[in-house]
Amino acid sequence: MSHRTTKFVFVTGGVVSSIGKGLSCASIGALLEARGLKVTAVKLDPYINVDPGTMSPFQHGEVFVTDDGAETDLDLGHYERFIEGVRMAKRNNFTTGQVYESVISNERRGDYLGGTVQVIPHVTDEIKRRIFQAAEGIDVCLVEIGGTVGDIESLPFLEAIRQLRFEVGPENTLYIHVTLVPYIKAAGEFKTKPTQHSVKELLGFGIMPNIILCRSESKLDLKIKKKISLFCNVAENCVINAPDVSTIYELPLTLHAEGMDDRIVELLHIWTGAPNLNPWKKIVNTVKSPANGLARIAMVGKYVDLTESYKSLTEALHHGAFANDCKVEIIYVDSEEIEKEGIEPVIARASAGQGIDAILIPGGFGVRGSEGKITAAGYARTKKIPFFGICLGLQMAVIEYARSVAGIKQATSREFDENSNAAVINLMESQKHVDRKGGSMRLGAYPCALKKDTLTRKVYGQKEITERHRHRFEVNNAFRSQLEQAGLIFSGVWPEGDLVEIIEIKDHPWFIGVQFHPEFKSTPKNSHPLFKSFITAALKHRDLRNGVKSDPSNGRSKGSEGSDPRQLTIA
Ligand code: GLN
Repeated sequence: MSHRTTKFVFVTGGVVSSIGKGLSCASIGALLEARGLKVTAVKLDPYINVDPGTMSPFQHGEVFVTDDGAETDLDLGHYERFIEGVRMAKRNNFTTGQVYESVISNERRGDYLGGTVQVIPHVTDEIKRRIFQAAEGIDVCLVEIGGTVGDIESLPFLEAIRQLRFEVGPENTLYIHVTLVPYIKAAGEFKTKPTQHSVKELLGFGIMPNIILCRSESKLDLKIKKKISLFCNVAENCVINAPDVSTIYELPLTLHAEGMDDRIVELLHIWTGAPNLNPWKKIVNTVKSPANGLARIAMVGKYVDLTESYKSLTEALHHGAFANDCKVEIIYVDSEEIEKEGIEPVIARASAGQGIDAILIPGGFGVRGSEGKITAAGYARTKKIPFFGICLGLQMAVIEYARSVAGIKQATSREFDENSNAAVINLMESQKHVDRKGGSMRLGAYPCALKKDTLTRKVYGQKEITERHRHRFEVNNAFRSQLEQAGLIFSGVWPEGDLVEIIEIKDHPWFIGVQFHPEFKSTPKNSHPLFKSFITAALKHRDLRNGVKSDPSNGRSKGSEGSDPRQLTIA
């Protein structure tokens, strides 16, 4: 890079939410990174909550956890998955609530010397301060404004980014407005009016977009682009179209083909070479024609959780599939149904008779559905089906093992029974005195030492790792030796706190539980080793149950796709 000035790309949204503004932002980051630039991204959330960790995942999707223990918006997960060179941290996400909290505590401290505290300049200054902080040492900082233009809450954010253009100069700032161009069936055409209105709204705040990114169901023709260009006062080659794609990882390629990164570097006066997009092309090829067929992964949880709360986890499973040149199908299995009907009929129904190749129990909270999860862990253990337990999933596997193998018949978690004397999963010492509702979890990255001669150590190929946490309960050290004697292997511990981080068992093709969330560190270009290895095990299990002799890591094997489902057993 010839310049050292940080450039800013502001991304706003119009028309409706949920059109992939976060993914667009992440993809733009990927393109600029592929051109050799050092990129970061910041998400500005307009809501008033100070602690996004306590927000319902049903309203906002997953809580994404960073190394430094911030519980953030799921868009930060997209940024980390698409932009490899930078790790997200607390400073990469802030809410209106946090901004006001800072301003109000400054005022309480007397920092404003008795002056009147106002949105402009005090609130906008605080917003700009936080943006600059996140952009330190970076070539291009992407700033995504949550919500859609015109929302009352986001006005101070828009005002702050308007001011920034004057502060850092027009050649160092760029505004991209993401809108939806709907196709109206009755008229048989795309409609540009919502985009026009939305741009007008933005102009009302003094922001003139340089690029309009039009999301649409299918490709827009030149006529529509010309119209948007004319009515919205944006150069024709700056009307970029992003029609729906079959995989999110195709978006960087789509945007590149439309000239997005060329326009950005031109407008920001950055000199770079052409981007290397081969890794993205390879991923898209794997998605479109996987050499090793399909692995069916049963994800066992409370039904309501399954559909919304596991963005990073489902992506990590896909990354594991990319590394195995295969595809995964995630089969949602409701653990409460398992409790009512038993596991086999539920799996048979959920998989439409196709059976499953592996079982995963994700993180979760609360007693509801836990017995069904414990049943699933036991089923995977005894039927030798590859099993991956994450956070609560590890806890379920430990309880199952305690009950069925170690003879602790009443084994449970303190989370489910406050008074049990067989709580093999217990509230952590450090969390006992904290209020349970927020700010009380073990959060962020902790180191973990891996035991020699274990599957886990082999999978990681390392002695020590660090992974991210978000939980309150842990394996109870009082039961450790009893469980160990019964054959449970504690293959990873946090050395400093002597806490169990990873479990596995002997005489099983693949059975691992982890107290942390490895999914937060997986990226499409660099699958997390646990997910990669888990999918390899699932493919082997698939071939085994189909009677196919093959090595999925090396060459094409005929998978269960296309085989006669009547010949399949459930697992
Ligand atoms: N509820 C469990 C705990 O708090 C597991 C949390 C999780 O799975 N993230 O320890």
